[in-house]
Amino acid sequence: MDGHATGLLEQLAAIVGRRHVIAQGEDQEPYVVDWRGRYHGRSVAVVKPASTAEVAAVVKLCAEQGIPVVPQGGNTGMCGAATPDASGRAVVIRLDRLNRVRAVSALANSITVEAGCILADVQRAAEEVDRLFPLSLGAEGSCMIGGNIATNAGGTAVLRYGPTRELVLGLEVVLPDGTVLDRLRRLRKDASGYDLKQLFIGAEGTLGIITAASLKLFPRPRASAMAMVALPDIDAALTLLGRLRGTLGDRLSSLEAMSRGQIEVIAENVPDVAIPFALESPWYLIIELTDTLAGTDLRTPLESVLGQALEDGLLTDAILPESVAQAEALWRIRHSVSEGSKRAGHVVSHDSVVPLENQAAFARDVQARIAGVAPAARIVMHGHIGDGNIHVLAILDRDTPGIPALAARINEAVDDVTTALGGVISAEHGIGQTNTARLGRVAAPADLGLMRRLKALLDPGNLMNPGKVLPPA
Ligand SMILES: Cc1cc2nc3c(=O)[nH]c(=O)nc-3n(C[C@H](O)[C@H](O)[C@H](O)COP(=O)(O)OP(=O)(O)OC[C@H]3O[C@@H](n4cnc5c(N)ncnc54)[C@H](O)[C@@H]3O)c2cc1C
Repeated sequence: MDGHATGLLEQLAAIVGRRHVIAQGEDQEPYVVDWRGRYHGRSVAVVKPASTAEVAAVVKLCAEQGIPVVPQGGNTGMCGAATPDASGRAVVIRLDRLNRVRAVSALANSITVEAGCILADVQRAAEEVDRLFPLSLGAEGSCMIGGNIATNAGGTAVLRYGPTRELVLGLEVVLPDGTVLDRLRRLRKDASGYDLKQLFIGAEGTLGIITAASLKLFPRPRASAMAMVALPDIDAALTLLGRLRGTLGDRLSSLEAMSRGQIEVIAENVPDVAIPFALESPWYLIIELTDTLAGTDLRTPLESVLGQALEDGLLTDAILPESVAQAEALWRIRHSVSEGSKRAGHVVSHDSVVPLENQAAFARDVQARIAGVAPAARIVMHGHIGDGNIHVLAILDRDTPGIPALAARINEAVDDVTTALGGVISAEHGIGQTNTARLGRVAAPADLGLMRRLKALLDPGNLMNPGKVLPPA
């Protein structure tokens, strides 16, 4: 390590404490490799500040010395967005010591938390005041709320509560020059100028570091009903969605689809997941209804809609769990999708979203196009069907020759179908470093131009998570 790096480590240690600066070496490994294991970066130091003031001081120091910074939450992202490049120049700012609940109000239905709070801890803090924080996803035990906001995470409750963007009331952000932007208001109404917090939601840490957030809470569901159904085709899922919405309104809180192949991948690769039915249909759907009024009977109307659907040939089978344990076992299948797929081979995964009425066409077209480009790929799908977002995975044998070129051709095929059907290439996982070229290929020039101008305005030195989101100019 040269004298300049040693001097930097001393300066960082003076801000956050020596114990919270991890210099190059094995101890950095968990912070410089992404969740999928695709990117192996290096960093001059991983630092763990414990307050907004410490984050601001680290960012200011790095800005003054022209050192790139990479914000990092739980490092569960899907696109290498929190992984530094291989140059070893960047400082990774890991947020896990900013983990306090600053305020919670059952009356105002709001909670203010620091960015390094684990999502499951935010959910628990809401429960303690008898409220719900509805964001829910497979990584909730390790992803952090700052990362959720920076990626505009979706998850399984979007149908009813919207993506993370719709759950944010206010943000506190450290800008690329170290200035603290305090927009941590908990106001439901605010017509006083530009809504600046929106800039940082979904920006994947390229415009600033979120240090705290005020979030919306909701009444807790006290009644629920659930079913897992087998379908002859994806069109049936959309017809069923229309009927469930028409009958049950916004009591419909989740509608998660999985192709048979997707469940087979889970069954083959995640040993402790039980599949309590024979896999004989091409599509499966988890339906969950909730209501805040204790004692509300949701099962009877659900059975009635499903009974009619069975008669009409929209379903081939249905399971309604008899206990909480059975319901959790069904959800466990859905939550094992990422783990199972990761173990199955080299996954070329997609996060397209299309208008709902085009979703069935999307699933069919994309299957045919990928099969044309990569006949040996195992094509499986899962997704949040009610909001138009189906994840298409092309799983390749790890020893397939020429994977990068093949993956690029698969991506082009999927992106062409997505854009032709009026969609975008990422609904919830983001662009990160994996998808910058894809964004460059499909985004409108006016969109990209404005994004670049905003980035240059806020971060003229291109030091805040460089190489992420924006394609190279
Ligand atoms: C098993 C599993 C299931 C998943 N399921 C879903 C799902 O259903 N829906 C979904 O949307 N995602 C899902 N994901 C992806 C991932 O969990 C989400 O993207 C999550 O929001 C990332 O949070 P994180 O704290 O791990 O962020 P990280 O991976 O650490 O970072 C992600 C991005 O946010 C930036 N960032 C992190 N913290 C901050 C901050 N405080 N300020 C500014 N920028 C910051 C990083 O620089 C990076 O660009 C899943 C992941 C796994 C492993």
